[in-house]
Amino acid sequence: MSADLLGRGRTLVRICNACRYCEGLCAVFPALERLREASPADLHHLANLCHACGACHFACPFAPPHDFDLHVPDTFARIRAESWRAYALLPAPAGAVVLTVAAALLATAVLLAAVLLARGPEVLFIAHTGPGAFYRVLSHDAMVTLFGLAFLWGFGLPLLAALRFWRAVRPGGPVGLAAWRAALRDALVLRNLDGGGAGCPDGTDAPRDRRRLFHHLTFYGFLLCFLATSVATLYHYLLGRIAPYPWWDLPVVAGTLGGLGLVVGPLGLVVQRRRRLSELRDSADPAGDDAFSLLLALVAASGLLLLGLRATPAMPLLLVVHLGLVLALFLVLPWTRFSHAPFRFAALLRDTVERTAPRETEDPGVLPATRR
Ligand code: SF4
Ligand code: SF4
Repeated sequence: MSADLLGRGRTLVRICNACRYCEGLCAVFPALERLREASPADLHHLANLCHACGACHFACPFAPPHDFDLHVPDTFARIRAESWRAYALLPAPAGAVVLTVAAALLATAVLLAAVLLARGPEVLFIAHTGPGAFYRVLSHDAMVTLFGLAFLWGFGLPLLAALRFWRAVRPGGPVGLAAWRAALRDALVLRNLDGGGAGCPDGTDAPRDRRRLFHHLTFYGFLLCFLATSVATLYHYLLGRIAPYPWWDLPVVAGTLGGLGLVVGPLGLVVQRRRRLSELRDSADPAGDDAFSLLLALVAASGLLLLGLRATPAMPLLLVVHLGLVLALFLVLPWTRFSHAPFRFAALLRDTVERTAPRETEDPGVLPATRR
């Protein structure tokens, strides 16, 4: 961490610890009150615990133009981005937008070339129906191998990075099942993204920031798509049922609902990012975040289009485009905002352990009431 960022982070901890006005807003302030001196790992932890709701910024008398120049959301956004880089296994290539566009074009072109070489151009312009229709364009074995490896790459690298982060920030002592449950609940409901209960403020009297709603649509949309793929895999290997499936079947229903969430959620997040005041930035690379959100929405939209036109001659080309976008998504995933998910969960886990642990001055036999 640069000396400047470390200094800003430590100053923030010292001032907020003395002030404590915001301790009811989110988990960050009680967490920093438990620190005597913040190490770089502590600052990484606090930054990933911050959900960038912006509430503290509007509450703070020391925010700019005050001489203290205390800017909590922005400082944490910088430290958060630095933490993702610090624990990453591979350095991020420069230019997230160019990388995303290049990955989408290249992956689609490579898949198209593979289909042309393996099956010839004729398969691309005729309708394929019945069980195995998709695999007449690209074989099942090729899909499983390619996307299995891409999945391991896309999700494995961020998870390994988060594991390194967890090793650096984890509290001493065991992490019990109750802590895992509480951290999971906090993550699933985004407890810290409610601006202390009033919603994410945007500088107006009536906050219109809908980031939590669109984040939920994105996250649960992703989970439903993952469920659809998992169930389809079980159908294929356990029941011998070959895709495509009828519209009422679980993989199609889950995939359709998930796809809708993954179109509306990421596009909504892009709009919210544009409407947000610049001082409430929640990332060091908003353009890269937009590119990632748009790629997610494109993957989902192409999947829905494929579903709607799967019995027509448009299916083969749509399949190639959809699979190319999915492949691109997996390839760039380790360097996208996706990292915030496992990092934030690790921070929530530490927070849960700390806030339910007996304090030194308390009777160790009595667990304190859960603090926010
Ligand atoms: S952000 Fe400002 S108002 Fe809130 S605790 Fe820190 S110093 Fe106090
Ligand atoms: S979650 Fe919101 S209130 Fe808490 S530190 Fe971050 S911006 Fe401030």
